[in-house]
Amino acid sequence: MFKGTNASSGIGIGTAVIVEEAELVIEKRTVADVEEEVQRFKGALDKTMKDTEALAADLATRVGEKEAEILQGHMMLLMDPMLTGEIENTIKGENICSEFAIEMVCTMYANVFAGMEDELMQQRATDMRDIKTRMQRVLLGVDTVDIASLPAGSILVAKDLTPSMTAGINPKNVTGIVTELGGKTSHSAILARALEIPAVVAVSDFMAEAKNGDFVILDGDAGVVFVNPNDAIKTEYTAKRDAFLAEKKELEKYIGQPTVTMDGVTVELVANIGKPQDVEKVLQYDGEGVGLFRTEFLFMDRNSMPTEDEQFEAYKKVAEALAGKPVIIRTLDIGGDKEIPYMGLEKDENPFLGYRAIRLCLDRKEDIYKPQLRALLRASAFGNIKIMIPLVTCIDEYREAKTLIDELKMELDRKGIAYNKNIQVGIMVETAAASLIADIFAKEVDFFSIGTNDLTQYTMSVDRGNDKISYLYSTFNPAVLRSIKRIITCAREAGIMVGMCGEAASDPMMIPLLLAFGLNEFSMSASAILYSRKLITSLSTKELQEVADKAMSFATTKEVEDYMREFVAGL
Ligand code: PEP
Ligand code: MG
Repeated sequence: MFKGTNASSGIGIGTAVIVEEAELVIEKRTVADVEEEVQRFKGALDKTMKDTEALAADLATRVGEKEAEILQGHMMLLMDPMLTGEIENTIKGENICSEFAIEMVCTMYANVFAGMEDELMQQRATDMRDIKTRMQRVLLGVDTVDIASLPAGSILVAKDLTPSMTAGINPKNVTGIVTELGGKTSHSAILARALEIPAVVAVSDFMAEAKNGDFVILDGDAGVVFVNPNDAIKTEYTAKRDAFLAEKKELEKYIGQPTVTMDGVTVELVANIGKPQDVEKVLQYDGEGVGLFRTEFLFMDRNSMPTEDEQFEAYKKVAEALAGKPVIIRTLDIGGDKEIPYMGLEKDENPFLGYRAIRLCLDRKEDIYKPQLRALLRASAFGNIKIMIPLVTCIDEYREAKTLIDELKMELDRKGIAYNKNIQVGIMVETAAASLIADIFAKEVDFFSIGTNDLTQYTMSVDRGNDKISYLYSTFNPAVLRSIKRIITCAREAGIMVGMCGEAASDPMMIPLLLAFGLNEFSMSASAILYSRKLITSLSTKELQEVADKAMSFATTKEVEDYMREFVAGL
């Protein structure tokens, strides 16, 4: 049995497919017949082109046009006569095999691109290396795993999942995910939850143990993985999986029900999304709105910034689909660890404490922030959009953003463009500083949303993605709990709405405490909504006060967790 971090609920049973970028060995081979070798190269070029075309078309229909753009860029390179001509000439001139000629020519171009100042050109270097490897794989007959067309019942095993890998995952075929890296709040874990694929992450050295074709069982709740287990384990987990699926079906009866506690307190149960397409799941699971739209996903996996109009269309689509229900859209939370090559950001020494989110946006008003805010304002004419600012640490940041929004409103007025004049502007409370001055913020901002993923990281001074120190990373730590309670109290005293969009909002052990503290809105992965509604409607906030007082009286994380685990088990 392997132990990891439980990242996405459910039991995955299936066949391991190892996704690994195998090292290619490119040898310099002299060829006897250069004409024949040129034909071999042309054949490989043709196949690479066709494969790329098919992949781009598939990605465009399944995920989106923008995601397919990178692959379309690869096709342009493959069609470039200068590049292909030079490879042919190298084969002929040096009497060498195609794979080595490709290596020489493509590497030379990639190095030239990499040395250029322009970020876009540097991105071309990555593209050039990518097509080089693709052609060489075809020539050497080394298969790449095509994630989009894995057979049904596959358990994806990888060191880590890149955004482009995850874009290709088809939940019909992938029944589980195991990765060696990542944490509960890493974006691959968040994506696994959005796709409702059971996942266990941070399983050390798993790749050394598992082989392609191994029979794998994983428990996404307990965070354990079995490789080729015995029959007793197979029977036990097959039963667990069936029970999990039956329970999921059972939860459907909560669709259309209000989210009201036993003592009549109504709360909002809303969803976290990353792309306009995610709205489908929100509606499927009866989300009462969107509590967090992470807009950075619109900026990732592409070669240039989405234009104001593209952003406007994306925000409008979500606002319209939610038909008047609240849609909280967070302005760009990028920089530091979340790299976007075309933005030309320098590497930060300390990414989580660095040049990111609102700090970056206020520094790049013209090319980044204004177009986004303008797109948000324009889209606000089509639904109930609220603007949320991430990583705020002091009131000046909020004021500066608010002034900018007011200026843009006047600009839209002058141009006669419609927008919601009363659009609400709130903040994520996710830094220790914002928590400590929550009373000051509460007097000025329209709403709070507590980002526990970062709040825990900044309160505990613990990198949220580092599994060596993950024992410190818990929202049940008394310091974090006090911070959460204080933020909610400050908001309630000032009469503003307070929600939570960090992963803790859907934690069954945390929900009773949040209800007792007076949280108004719970924002989570859409797939967690119905279970949370079931739990909330079974609780009474009055009776929970005692539970919360007791939980707050403990000195250690373990005591709080043990107590809450026992409480939830007894429900
Ligand atoms: C958070 O920090 O809790 C949050 C919701 O935002 P993200 O996970 O995108 O940092
Ligand atoms: Mg955050």
